[in-house]
Amino acid sequence: MSLFFDIKEKIVKSGRVNQLLKKSCPNCDSDLVLTDLKQWFSLFLIPLFPFYRVDTYYHCSNCNATYTRTIGNSLIEGTADKVSVEAERKKLFCYTLFACMTHMANIDGEITENEAIEIDRMRNKFKDYKADIDEVIYKVKESDNPEEFVYAILRQSSVRLTSKDIMSIIGESAKVLLADEKITKEEERLLKEYLIVCGIPKDLYSTIVGK
Ligand SMILES: [Zn+2]
Repeated sequence: MSLFFDIKEKIVKSGRVNQLLKKSCPNCDSDLVLTDLKQWFSLFLIPLFPFYRVDTYYHCSNCNATYTRTIGNSLIEGTADKVSVEAERKKLFCYTLFACMTHMANIDGEITENEAIEIDRMRNKFKDYKADIDEVIYKVKESDNPEEFVYAILRQSSVRLTSKDIMSIIGESAKVLLADEKITKEEERLLKEYLIVCGIPKDLYSTIVGK
């Protein structure tokens, strides 16, 4: 039997309040559309039916950025400006991403050369946030209880980032592990724990890591 869970985005039915935010994307000024992220139940690679709604957020089809409904509301009400919304989101994304990557790479007691290369490669992608990234890398390495430290960051981030962002963070963390070898059982357990901490079904693990 080939049963598995997949994820799909589906635009929320038009006519809902604030379903479309015209020219509102903080990243590129395109339209934002209210979108459901749903877990689908599939059989033999054929999606059968939506099983669970993971999250609802605003999606920009131009730049692919996603924003929580809370952020969407602040844009509608004008209580937050786009520049600071985007800076905050990217900063939090970086902080969480490098917390997870460092934790994962360091889980067996040392960061190998290949893992360090992979972390550096990502670090160069986010030059504007270098100070935050270096801070969180240092904190994870020096923490007496890195697992709890990283879980706490994930818990806070899962409120302010969309599930789509969180899943991309977990996917990138898995890539760091794959730089070296295949993912061990212990590493898989931790990646699933990350999902659970963020309220995302752990069955989505193979979909996220497979990508
Ligand atoms: Zn955009």
